[in-house]
Amino acid sequence: MRTNITLVCTECKGRNYDTNKNKKNDPDRMEIKKYCPKCKKHTVHKEGK
Ligand SMILES: [Zn+2]
Repeated sequence: MRTNITLVCTECKGRNYDTNKNKKNDPDRMEIKKYCPKCKKHTVHKEGK
């Protein structure tokens, strides 16, 4: 059971990545460090909707 999510940069609010996750394994909102092309650096990305 996988759910599609969008990863949103916490600095510029850019929606940079679409991915999916297993809700059973990751019931909480994900937080991942990823490269943001708008900030031109690695920032924390949170799960948006
Ligand atoms: Zn950004």
